[in-house]
Amino acid sequence: MGYSIAIDGPAGAGKSTIAKLIAKERGCIYVDTGAMYRAMAIYFLRQGIAAEDEVAITEACKDIEVVIKYEGNVQNVYLNSENVTSILRTEEVGKMASASSVYGAVRAKLLDLQRKLAEDYDVVMDGRDIGTHVLPNADVKIYMTASVEERANRRYKELVEKGDTSADYEKIKADIAERDYRDMNREIAPLKQAEDAILLDTSDMSIEEVVNAIIAYCR
Ligand code: C5P
Repeated sequence: MGYSIAIDGPAGAGKSTIAKLIAKERGCIYVDTGAMYRAMAIYFLRQGIAAEDEVAITEACKDIEVVIKYEGNVQNVYLNSENVTSILRTEEVGKMASASSVYGAVRAKLLDLQRKLAEDYDVVMDGRDIGTHVLPNADVKIYMTASVEERANRRYKELVEKGDTSADYEKIKADIAERDYRDMNREIAPLKQAEDAILLDTSDMSIEEVVNAIIAYCR
């Protein structure tokens, strides 16, 4: 078992930005578990399966193999031998990942893979259930959050900076609230702060402040 830092929290709290910086600072691997759920979502979308169809999704899980490879310390996700890393971060894929990750078969498929990575490497792993379920014995557990308004604002700015002229703040906010609800209220491994996790509300913190706070807990 390597040294592990678990970072959980709702969508848009800044987990991946922070986790990447911490991994760099500590010379360990950043494991993005959301990317794994997204890879599975790509498969369901390509098969034309509806997000509500748990039976078809459960059946489809048998035909999916997700493999993670680290190339130059960057996580690459392979879906049945295809590198899908560059197509993971679309709205459509994110929506399907959020909806399909409530199912037991989908979560079970990824659990061993996530645990094995933490056995083989020193990791900063982010997601929704890392400190509570995937790595209950993680060395450091962080629950990172920010207000819905602040998270929507960050996402809106990111889209505008990318030149997206159709970005709509109210729609983004409603979408984030819906994802929060689904993540926090699902039956299996819902998003919640682990009892021994440190709460970091990043609404009024800079990236540097958040990184420094977490590094301080790792000593
Ligand atoms: O973090 P990201 O937005 O990439 O994750 C995609 C979706 O996967 C989330 O909306 C969440 O519902 C799900 N997820 C999860 N458990 C994790 C990581 C992500 O349920 N550990």
